[in-house]
Amino acid sequence: MLLQLIYLVASVTFIIGLKFLGNPATARKGNLIAAFGMTIAIFGTIFLYTDVDGNHLKNLPFIFGGLVVGTVVGWFAAKKVQMTAMPEMVSLFNGMGGACAMLISVIEFQHIQHNPAAASSLGHLIIIILGMIIGSISFSGSIVAWGKLSGNFKDHSFGMQQVINIGLLLVILVLGYMAASTQEPLWFYLVLSLALLYGVLFVMPIGGADMPVVISLLNSFTGVAAAFGGFLYDNKVMLVGGILVGSAGTLLTIVMCNAMNRSLLNVLIGNFGGGAAASGEARSVTGSVKEVSTSDAAILMKYAKKVVIVPGYGLAVAQAQHVVHELEHLLESEGVVVKYAIHPVAGRMPGHMNVLLAESNVSYDKLVEMEEINPEFTTTDVVLVVGANDVVNPAAKTDPASPIYGMPILDVENAQHVIVNKRSMKAGYAGIENELFFRPKTSMLFGDAKKALTDLVSEIKSLG
Ligand code: NDP
Repeated sequence: MLLQLIYLVASVTFIIGLKFLGNPATARKGNLIAAFGMTIAIFGTIFLYTDVDGNHLKNLPFIFGGLVVGTVVGWFAAKKVQMTAMPEMVSLFNGMGGACAMLISVIEFQHIQHNPAAASSLGHLIIIILGMIIGSISFSGSIVAWGKLSGNFKDHSFGMQQVINIGLLLVILVLGYMAASTQEPLWFYLVLSLALLYGVLFVMPIGGADMPVVISLLNSFTGVAAAFGGFLYDNKVMLVGGILVGSAGTLLTIVMCNAMNRSLLNVLIGNFGGGAAASGEARSVTGSVKEVSTSDAAILMKYAKKVVIVPGYGLAVAQAQHVVHELEHLLESEGVVVKYAIHPVAGRMPGHMNVLLAESNVSYDKLVEMEEINPEFTTTDVVLVVGANDVVNPAAKTDPASPIYGMPILDVENAQHVIVNKRSMKAGYAGIENELFFRPKTSMLFGDAKKALTDLVSEIKSLG
């Protein structure tokens, strides 16, 4: 009874935590609330759970050993990780969740094998096998995603890959049913191996810029696999937690697809950013590039009425969030209205720019979402693009052959002046040139973002 109450409280904390995570101002609190719920659920299970015969959990040294190792590794990994490497870590941790779901199914299957008394219904076995299939795909797919994000693996696709993938999935489902109906270990482990292979083949060809969608999808898979675990053990909190992760991951996947104006199917088979989806060669960009000096940029900004800053991945690389905030303060003290334009896939993870700017205490009401800020560019004097590239690339609107064609972008060129800060003319994540840099209204302020913005701040101050 007490355990059920603990599970109920924990489930409620997950829901409240998720609600709080929806806003950068309350996200930290949300995380803590949900972590508290998870902690009481874990300790409640360890100390209060009893099986049908009234036995408590055994193997406590193993359980606590695992808890200590997991806590120490997780704590240090999270403390050490660079913000720019966060998606890699999320992938890796998500893979561990998938592996857990897979192992739960393996243990349960073995349990049935070794205890004829535990003979199970077909429905029960199907749940075990579905949990194993989804967990395995999530595990191997997440490891490949981690490898690709960290630059260790490249995109790989081969002819008929999609046909082979669909065929493999069908084989897995058929063999999975056979494993459930015959309880034959051979079928079970064959399905497990094929599901691991499917995870690799499923993620391998997906183009770089689509990785956030895939990670979110794999995250929802892990949630669903955990929910199956909840069914198996008749454990309410595992069920609720799994369903929440599964549905939140699915919603995030849909939101990201919408942000890129693409269907999930198109993301999964389109090879976005990998080239195969593009209907032809992307237009090559020609023209000359205009540079702006720090002093000219300072004058333009100091005497502007409204400045919009567009942060991108380069801002995170340079760790220039504090100096950008200083620039914002300085301009506001000069009577300039300053806002930040936040593109939903700027940076390398959902909400990356919000998190980064929150670190330097930029006020949340200054962070304006793409749909809201786009109409404002026509009344903006200066746009300062800091380390962003793909999210301001007009090819997304004008070049049907471009791999990012169709993705909504920030319409910065509607402003009077566009100043782009980056270190070189190198491409962004999608690997394509950006014609914005060659447009007449654009001038380039080359250099590392932290240094360039620090110089800009000193120059504006020196203007008096
Ligand atoms: P991009 O990756 O398109 O461009 C970043 C730019 O920053 C580069 O062109 C680089 O140019 C510049 N840069 C790098 N380091 C510095 C530095 N120290 N100082 C100044 N500039 C620097 O970034 P965006 O944010 O515009 O777009 C994000 C891309 O990442 C999209 O394609 C998105 O789909 C993808 N993506 C998004 C994820 C998400 O969830 N948000 C996850 C994974 C991918 P240079 O080298 O010349 O300095």
